[in-house]
Amino acid sequence: MKKKLIINDEKDLNRFYNRLWLYRSFIYRFVYFYIDEDKYNVTPILKALNIKYRNSRIKCVINEACIYLDNYYKDKNYCDFKCYKCALHRSKKYNYKNGCCRACDYQSSGGCLTSNVACKLFYCKYITDKYDTLTIKDIKVLYVLSLFQRMTIGSDYFASVDDVAMDLYCWPLASTFRISMRMLKIYPRFRKVIKNEKL
Ligand code: SF4
Ligand code: SF4
Repeated sequence: MKKKLIINDEKDLNRFYNRLWLYRSFIYRFVYFYIDEDKYNVTPILKALNIKYRNSRIKCVINEACIYLDNYYKDKNYCDFKCYKCALHRSKKYNYKNGCCRACDYQSSGGCLTSNVACKLFYCKYITDKYDTLTIKDIKVLYVLSLFQRMTIGSDYFASVDDVAMDLYCWPLASTFRISMRMLKIYPRFRKVIKNEKL
């Protein structure tokens, strides 16, 4: 079955956003959504809604959220890295390299080796005081996920894209267990990095 969406103005758009919890539910399991004229760029959301397998839909949402964030920040360069040191650490005259990523497994000289929505959303106070940054509420495609999944994806730092996808796929208890275990595993490394920085 097909369902045509008509989004002509802000009111229609807000109604569409408010109904996302319904469109992603079992009731619309066999419904294919489409739109004739996409004035408000809802195509990424429809793409996710039209994927009916949970795992594939989660991966699509993560991918679309990352594309949105990358495009938004493409020309902004807020952290302004120079010789591997970010704006905050240069201003404090710290010798830390690679900013917030410095204790993470996925850092490299070429940047992050994975795609993490929480990390892409995060900016320290030094940056948020100076610039407008996005919050999770601005990434509308994330509303294809449940509230728990949105909370998880918004706080699942230092994790690979596959780990985050699995955290979202699991039931809340299993997901919390997975994240806690990962944090316990990386905590000693964090301590070591912080200790070495103080030397
Ligand atoms: S968010 Fe702040 S601490 Fe993190 S890399 Fe950017 S400037 Fe540095
Ligand atoms: S996963 Fe996050 S903390 Fe780790 S390298 Fe990528 S952006 Fe940095």
